[in-house]
Amino acid sequence: MHTDVLPGATPTKEHQSGTMKCLVKEDLHTDGFVLRTDYKEPSPGFGEVKIRVLATSVCGTDKSIYNSARSEGIRREMQRYLPSPDAYKPIVVGHEFCGIVEEIGPGNYDLAGMVPGHLLVEKGDYVTAEMHLSCGHCYLCRTGSEHICTGVKVKGVHLDGCFAESVVVPYKNVILLGKGGDTSEIPPRIGALLDAFGNSVHTVAEADVAGKSVAILGAGPLGLMSTFLCRAFGATRIYMSEAADIDRRARLATEFGVDHFVDVSKGSGELQKLVTKLEHNANGVDVVLEMSGSLPAYEDAFKIVRNGGQVILLGIAREPLPRFDIANGVIWKGVTVKGIFGRKMFSTWETMLSLIRSDRLDLKSKLERVVAPRNYRLEEFSEAFDLLGNGTELKLIFNPDGTLCK
Ligand SMILES: [Zn+2]
Ligand SMILES: [Zn+2]
Repeated sequence: MHTDVLPGATPTKEHQSGTMKCLVKEDLHTDGFVLRTDYKEPSPGFGEVKIRVLATSVCGTDKSIYNSARSEGIRREMQRYLPSPDAYKPIVVGHEFCGIVEEIGPGNYDLAGMVPGHLLVEKGDYVTAEMHLSCGHCYLCRTGSEHICTGVKVKGVHLDGCFAESVVVPYKNVILLGKGGDTSEIPPRIGALLDAFGNSVHTVAEADVAGKSVAILGAGPLGLMSTFLCRAFGATRIYMSEAADIDRRARLATEFGVDHFVDVSKGSGELQKLVTKLEHNANGVDVVLEMSGSLPAYEDAFKIVRNGGQVILLGIAREPLPRFDIANGVIWKGVTVKGIFGRKMFSTWETMLSLIRSDRLDLKSKLERVVAPRNYRLEEFSEAFDLLGNGTELKLIFNPDGTLCK
């Protein structure tokens, strides 16, 4: 552990006051994280809120950061806003969480009609937060596209995140889940998933799935969450393809409402054959949701979509597509292609909360079933990342204070 390299760290005592426990990415060229107990606890600046983390979930991005020595793509991403590749400073990782507001920094809250003492979010409230921070001033931010602001920085990727006892975020990014710390409507195991679930909600909401056939490529957590969303949004026939860990994912997908689960580990011939047979009327599916990030899946997407259909891309390709036949795949087919990044600020959050509160189609219990049955302490991080790495678990939750680990 290189305690001397961290700004603000006080490396003398175990957990003295003003310090906190957290998982830190110290060096991009070495795999793994370091558990620190002496990291400076953040305090909220102007317009910021400090949140005590109750539960925080691990996603594919965290896995890539954990394995950064092997992933040039994630190293490039993490260095995007640095003046030089050597300028990297260790950060606290993690970006999906929920917690309790501990402190609200000073701010011009009255300008927004919020009188101190009557703020929308107050001390003791149960909240989550949008961890993509946009600049708020550019053309995109001022025209309703904050989520693709060119300056967007992600807490847990570019700035200190939430695999920690506490985290600080801008007030405007905080999402209220329960007044006075009430977690009864949205339990912490679901509150911690909302960032991820929001990716799926954004993707499905951007597609026109009502009364349509949909193919979801990739049965990872986001693909699986999209299955019951497609059902809730009124899709007719749902296909799903996956190349790994077939049995368990097929079982979950079928329980979540998928009609046809196809193993594409040996190629997509069977998927294409099935779509040709069942969608002969339109000669392809109406909508494809690409949620795997694997190169063969991008090709499959444009083969199985019907003329005039939609291809929505969420999975992140870590390298450029080597060859893509844009004339046959898109132009002559008249296909609409749309990329999805993060969640719309903040309409996706509102859609998501209303879906969860309605709990239609048992959405809450399905969400929970994507996650490992027990919660993990931050101290167990290497075991946790092993379980995710070897496919034993699809997604899991850290509980930094240990109270939900019984
Ligand atoms: Zn994530
Ligand atoms: Zn902006």
